[in-house]
Formats: sequence, C-alpha cells, structure tokens
Amino acid sequence: MAKTRCRCGNLIRDDDPDHSMVLNSHRASEDLDFDGTALFGRGTDMLRCAACGRLWVFWDEHGSPTEYRPVAEG
Ligand SMILES: [Zn+2]
Repeated sequence: MAKTRCRCGNLIRDDDPDHSMVLNSHRASEDLDFDGTALFGRGTDMLRCAACGRLWVFWDEHGSPTEYRPVAEG
C-alpha cells in the first residue's frame, strides 16, 4: 500500500477502491486474451484526489508520480 500527499494536502492511498485506478493502453489489451487480472498487473497506477480532482500517474513505478490538474473551464 502506498500513500501520497496531494498538493492540496489530502492524503490519497492506492488501496482506496473508489479513487485508485489502473490505466491500460489499447495495445496492452489487444496483446492479451481478455483477462482482467493480467491487465491489472500490466497497467499504470493512477490515484485521483477526491478533494481537488488532481490525478497522480505513476508512469515510472519506481519514480515519483506525475501530477495532472483539472483546468477550470470558462
Ligand atoms: Zn488534492
């Protein structure tokens, strides 16, 4: 389990079932017979901050996550 402090101060955790996600490319899903477990293991981990909506994507599983911040429309 990993915990990350969002820039807004909220604590986000990779074991949060509502805000931890896995990204998979179409290529990765095409290369496998459909098997959700295999896809899950190959994906890129992403956490969403429930407080501010920022996304933290772990492109490098051993590095720091990349921050993506929602842009206000208008
Ligand atoms: Zn936040």
